[in-house]
Amino acid sequence: MSDFIAHLRKLYPSSRLYEDDARLTPYVSDGLTVFRQKPVAVVMPINNEEVVETLKICHEFQVPFVARGSGTSLSGGSLPIDEGIVISLNQLNQIIELDPDNRTARVQPGVINSNISIAAAPHGLYFAPDPSSQTVCTIGGNLAFNSGGAHCLKYGMTSNHILGIKVALPDGEVVELGNDSLENAGPDCVGLFVGSEGLLGIALEIQIRLLPIPESYQTLLASYDSLEAAGEAVSVVVASGILPGAMEIMDKLAIEAAEAAVSAGYPKDAEALLIVELDGESAAVEAEFVALSEAISKTGAKEVRIAQDNAERMLIWKGRKSAFSAVGRLSPDYIVQDGVVPRSRLGEALKEISRLSSEAGLRVANVFHAGDGNLHPLILFDAKQPDGLEKAEALAGKILRLCLKLGGSITGEHGVGVEKLEYMPDMFTEIDLDTFNRLRRSIDPNEISNRGKMLPGKEAPALAAHGPHPLEKAGVISRM
Ligand SMILES: Cc1cc2nc3c(=O)[nH]c(=O)nc-3n(C[C@H](O)[C@H](O)[C@H](O)COP(=O)(O)OP(=O)(O)OC[C@H]3O[C@@H](n4cnc5c(N)ncnc54)[C@H](O)[C@@H]3O)c2cc1C
Repeated sequence: MSDFIAHLRKLYPSSRLYEDDARLTPYVSDGLTVFRQKPVAVVMPINNEEVVETLKICHEFQVPFVARGSGTSLSGGSLPIDEGIVISLNQLNQIIELDPDNRTARVQPGVINSNISIAAAPHGLYFAPDPSSQTVCTIGGNLAFNSGGAHCLKYGMTSNHILGIKVALPDGEVVELGNDSLENAGPDCVGLFVGSEGLLGIALEIQIRLLPIPESYQTLLASYDSLEAAGEAVSVVVASGILPGAMEIMDKLAIEAAEAAVSAGYPKDAEALLIVELDGESAAVEAEFVALSEAISKTGAKEVRIAQDNAERMLIWKGRKSAFSAVGRLSPDYIVQDGVVPRSRLGEALKEISRLSSEAGLRVANVFHAGDGNLHPLILFDAKQPDGLEKAEALAGKILRLCLKLGGSITGEHGVGVEKLEYMPDMFTEIDLDTFNRLRRSIDPNEISNRGKMLPGKEAPALAAHGPHPLEKAGVISRM
């Protein structure tokens, strides 16, 4: 290890190479603070060459590394690796080029999500993926997790907005994936990299799509007597044939927390709130608003409010977007889950989560992307209580398995990281996991890039038990 560190010292001044406890401490965890691991060092490259050189040194000494943007991962994705280093990309934060005619931009990975829209606004453009953490999180993290946000219902996840990526592979080789067009020949290598949770290397430069800022918005807030009723209202809105920009639900606990944090002015007696936003050309939004009002009138809403101006609209969103962090006011500790269910089974899922919460004796706040069926149950617990964390994790596991039983997924946007590793075999077959592992090892044979995340076990399960895999028969994969 000392030879390895000596190489890093040649590459970085001490102001950008952290080795002492005091400067390493802020990096021991990400947004999921229940997991902690001190890295051997943290490096802060300021150009692509330094990233590439760092990877070559890691490759030579077989030292694992993790790329880190702002460290807001809620699944332990940017948790340091035992005996490994953190490559912090915050100083690679330039918008290299913004091309309003082609509605694209080329950005460095450490650019903060909302800074892209700020830079594009004078051209009437914006970057659509809008995670609630968008004022802090980086485009590199968004790409690695294929992050979403309230408006991904209409506009798609991060993957729908990435055209090309310059990647430094785990051995330091630099490759270009995609280009500045949506239409390309051959397999979708950009698609493979997006959502790969830092396992396939480090994104150095990212070519993104920009969209025209919608001409008009209508934002509606409906309150309900029960969470289930709000969940069912979502199906009624969808059945009316309109495609809102966003459809979000908050339950009583989440409303209480958001109110205490930002005084959004939400109805205080509501058991649940549904926020529906229409956006687009003014005439279309007007027509859709008629259909939306009619649909909402059939859902038994107690109270319906319409944002009268942009200030009211922004306040509604401020409450929703601050809800995760605001829940910290209600409990010393909490885990955010990220399961997905088919939208038609939302009501059923919410009822069962409420039952599981009572059974476990733990409060669960719900705030989620209802239009996508992407649930975010926040499990409140006290880590100082005996078994506090274990009980919360057991409840989280039951909720994730419920999502799978209902035909959904263990993650919608927060990634698998380390947190959901043990549920991967519940979602994928041994053959699936083996195929993922083989693909990963064809790029990173010794798994030095973000080792121990997303894919369970270093060793792939034997294929033999399953007979020849269909891809083997087709000559696409082979046994090693
Ligand atoms: C309050 C709060 C609200 C949130 N709301 C949402 C939400 O609405 N939607 C949502 O999707 N997520 C949400 N998140 C989760 C988180 O913000 C996102 O996952 C975000 O994309 C992480 O970005 P980051 O820069 O913090 O990445 P990090 O946490 O630093 O890293 C995340 C992953 O990306 C990898 N990575 C980072 N940069 C690169 C790179 N250049 N190349 C390759 N891999 C890289 C890391 O290794 C790690 O695996 C929320 C988090 C918080 C704390």
